[in-house]
Amino acid sequence: MNSVNELKDSVLQKEELIAAMQLVEERTATLKAIIDGSDDAIISKNLQGIVTSWNPSAERIFGYSAAEMIGEPILKLIPADRVDEESDILNRMRAGERVNHFETKRLTKNGDLIDVSLTISPVKNATGQIIGISKIARNITFLKQAEEKSAILNAIIESTDDAIISKDLNSIITSWNISAERIFGYTAEEMIGQSILKLIPTDRHQEETMILSQLKKGERVDHFETKRMTKHGVLIDVSLTISPVKDKAGNIIGLSKIARDITDRKLDEQHKNDFVAIVSHELKTPLTSIRSYIQLALTKVKKQQDGFTEDVLTRANAQTQKMGMMINDFLNLSRLEEGKMSLNTSRFLLSDLVNEVIGEARLFAPSHVIACQRCPEATIQGDREKLGQVMNNLLSNAVKYSNPGTAINIYCDREKEKVKISFADQGMGISTEDQQHLFERFYRVADGHAKNVSGFGIGLYLVAEILKLHGSEIRVHSEPGKGSVFSFELPFEPVAFSAVDASV
Ligand code: ADP
Repeated sequence: MNSVNELKDSVLQKEELIAAMQLVEERTATLKAIIDGSDDAIISKNLQGIVTSWNPSAERIFGYSAAEMIGEPILKLIPADRVDEESDILNRMRAGERVNHFETKRLTKNGDLIDVSLTISPVKNATGQIIGISKIARNITFLKQAEEKSAILNAIIESTDDAIISKDLNSIITSWNISAERIFGYTAEEMIGQSILKLIPTDRHQEETMILSQLKKGERVDHFETKRMTKHGVLIDVSLTISPVKDKAGNIIGLSKIARDITDRKLDEQHKNDFVAIVSHELKTPLTSIRSYIQLALTKVKKQQDGFTEDVLTRANAQTQKMGMMINDFLNLSRLEEGKMSLNTSRFLLSDLVNEVIGEARLFAPSHVIACQRCPEATIQGDREKLGQVMNNLLSNAVKYSNPGTAINIYCDREKEKVKISFADQGMGISTEDQQHLFERFYRVADGHAKNVSGFGIGLYLVAEILKLHGSEIRVHSEPGKGSVFSFELPFEPVAFSAVDASV
């Protein structure tokens, strides 16, 4: 009987043991699954610093397999200049401490230095004795790189001379750098959370709506010159570059604005314009007198049949005429720059103006064959003097950039309600690349024969601007080596009354 009970007991004990072992196995399996599935490297080592376990993430992060690392010293991962860290950690472990989120660098199998964040804890046995160390290492290289990048960007933003401001799509300021504070006088605390309208003069508030609608389409606004108001109520000139800020999915979530204070530059320009205006004006008066004297002398000499003196005076007359045109260009340039160019409109006969311009051009370019090919009877409404200047500039360019003896033709063609006026030469022509910039201020073709011809690069700029004021535009059609045609259109009005030139 006794032996039966003993047998029962022994069976029971065995079953309990098996159950307990199963529990331990299950727990171990769960722990292993957690350790193996972790994104972090989980490593354990003994108190001599020898690796005792190494999970798959440790292999992924450091490049060594478990077989290569178990039994090896952990020092294999520690850069030479950081070996002291290991003894320090060991000392803290022996004292029963934990080390949390310790940021340092470790070496991979490839010799790369990576940034890691370590959490290190002592491993104790059932009696509380420290028998080893467990280490959880997280690779934070990308985070560190992003932090460094952001620090660099921040340093750039804070060290630039330009105001760099960001705002959301409701025009509320979200960032404000030191230069923004210097230029506008408000601190970041005063401006973040405020509307950008605080800086925009009331009469320019519609600019913000215009800028927003352009940016919502994903377009940038480049070098937009305008005025803004400082904290002290001073209006300053600024040049703005505004770009959309997009999230990862490409949605526009805000705007960034770079504002450059150009008040000094504007002041310099103003001084230069004033100077050009004064000098041009002062030169005009004596030049007009010189021209009158030359013309008087010409009239007299023509009667005396003195061929040589007549020729000399005719040339002098042509040169003073050229000089007059240049001075007019400078005067108009300074007026344009200051926004002071206005039109003095009247009605006049197109053919009269064209013939006048041709007559003058024949004086300074007797070597070219200049003719008006067609000219419908039309009256034009516009600023006669300025349209004359447009034609003078186009004609004098045709002369300057073509060879003596070649033809320059002016065509006036009626096209429905418009008359198209074209100046065609057989000169050197203009490349497609240069054609894109011809009408910019001070633009001159830099190569070929053109660079040897004197000029300031303002003629075509003025032509374009004067025509713009007339609601028209200048067009060019040109082929290098074959010649150029410059044309523009004006509204056609048939000659319906005799009193042309009557002011309107
Ligand atoms: P400028 O003649 O004083 O240089 P413009 O503004 O009148 O200035 O002309 C700009 C440039 O365009 C000139 O430098 C020249 O190279 C080119 N250009 C203008 N008209 C002609 C033309 N009819 N044929 C060839 N090139 C021309």
